Amino acid sequence: MSNIIRTCIGCRTKLAQNTLYRFICKDKNIFSYKGEGRSFYICKSCVLDEKNISKSAKRLCKNNKDYVDDIKKILKQKGA
Ligand SMILES: [Zn+2]
Repeated sequence: MSNIIRTCIGCRTKLAQNTLYRFICKDKNIFSYKGEGRSFYICKSCVLDEKNISKSAKRLCKNNKDYVDDIKKILKQKGA
């Protein structure tokens, strides 16, 4: 399971899935992935780069909302 490789949406680096944060975009909102929908991944260095994740999230959700606060909230809940 640990050798599944996924691409970070921020920097396009390919990393093991278990080292990435996984999110979904549903109805133009970002949530922590819970087993349904199309997910995307952000690596641990990109979550620290607000400009980068904001741009990537907007592109993925096809919405111009600033998702930085949402992502930060999710990360806090995860204990990151
Ligand atoms: Zn990254």
